[in-house]
Amino acid sequence: MAADDAAVSARGEFEIIARYFAGHEGDGVLLGVGDDAAVLDVREPCVVAVDTLVGGVHFPPDLDARAIGHRALAVNLSDLAAMGAAPRWATLALTLPFADEDWIEAFAGGFFALAGDHGVGLVGGDTTRGPLSITVQVIGTTRGDYLRRSGGRAGDDVWVTGTLGDAAAALPLFAAAPEQPSAAETVLLERFRYPAPRVAAGRALTRLATAAIDVSDGLVADLGHICSQSGCGARIDVERLPLSEALLGVCGRSRAEDYALGGGDDYELCFTAPPERAAAVADALARTGTPGVRVGSMTEGHAVSCCRAGRPVPVGIAGYTHF
Ligand code: ADP
Ligand code: MG
Repeated sequence: MAADDAAVSARGEFEIIARYFAGHEGDGVLLGVGDDAAVLDVREPCVVAVDTLVGGVHFPPDLDARAIGHRALAVNLSDLAAMGAAPRWATLALTLPFADEDWIEAFAGGFFALAGDHGVGLVGGDTTRGPLSITVQVIGTTRGDYLRRSGGRAGDDVWVTGTLGDAAAALPLFAAAPEQPSAAETVLLERFRYPAPRVAAGRALTRLATAAIDVSDGLVADLGHICSQSGCGARIDVERLPLSEALLGVCGRSRAEDYALGGGDDYELCFTAPPERAAAVADALARTGTPGVRVGSMTEGHAVSCCRAGRPVPVGIAGYTHF
């Protein structure tokens, strides 16, 4: 990148990179930040994912920098979690309207706190000036037993981890910006700001789940991807949806269900497994400290339907689509 179109400040681009982004490379790195490219020493199959967050599109424009740093890495680690892969390294392409060092320091704080939790090294990136946009690429490894979206079969149970709908319910709160959010509202806002990618659960499920996806666009939409790639349908029993006390308190049951079915941004896992593995799945989740429940079943057909007490019900909010 030439200096004149870089994100320049009193400190130059390279000083900013050296100060805030170098020295976190981790293991297995032959050459890290500072050369034309990084050199990684990889002996196993690699799993690679990349996601871009655009300010005002993927997060509220006034979201704080620490949360943005966390989220930018978290959404990528969630993709590796859904593959059952072990995260190792990341690269970071950062486009900033201006180089505000307080902002960069807080962003790096959020990014490296989560990277440290998961043993992820930052091995390179790019820093440019423009409308706020963050692209993180993650590289993980697998022993070959990675999960896919395509292995679900009619009769499998459909499981989800954690609780659903919390992050989507936080979005109107960001817009309304209450001066004194209630305790329950604060829980929802924190779920949006600091999603916890289910990396350990994904790895524990590699030999148990038949298909998996992370819930970024809403359960109906994301389970729909498992269905289309597995060549079957699915039924969600809405009374089994895992809803947090905070969500129920803020929204009431009916809207909470709509958020859980149609709202994205929770970054929980949705996966399928044959009923005879249910005890082993519950064990694997418990070993990794991950709550998880069965919310329905895979079926013949090709669509996701919702049932209450065994009867079909319409789905409120459609899952998020980008275009
Ligand atoms: P080049 O001109 O060769 O693309 P850059 O000036 O873009 O090099 O980057 C210099 C070095 O700093 C490279 O090793 C690059 O990977 C690293 N780098 C740039 N921006 C970041 C960042 N935001 N995070 C981590 N490493 C970065
Ligand atoms: Mg560059």
